[in-house]
Amino acid sequence: MVVRKKVLKVCRECHRVVEGEACVICGTSNLSDDWAGYVVIIDPEHSEIAKKMNITMAGRYALKVR
Ligand SMILES: [Zn+2]
Repeated sequence: MVVRKKVLKVCRECHRVVEGEACVICGTSNLSDDWAGYVVIIDPEHSEIAKKMNITMAGRYALKVR
């Protein structure tokens, strides 16, 4: 497994992994590059993790954001 530092950032509002300069959900540029681990939510309506994290849209979400 190759671990490489990417330029991905995470939205501080909804924890979504963002590849641009603003979150596609919140529209905010309140992003953090200090985060750890992420989960891929494919089906939010049937995902226990999504319910715990209040996620309603499929996508990648960081587990820890500072
Ligand atoms: Zn967001």
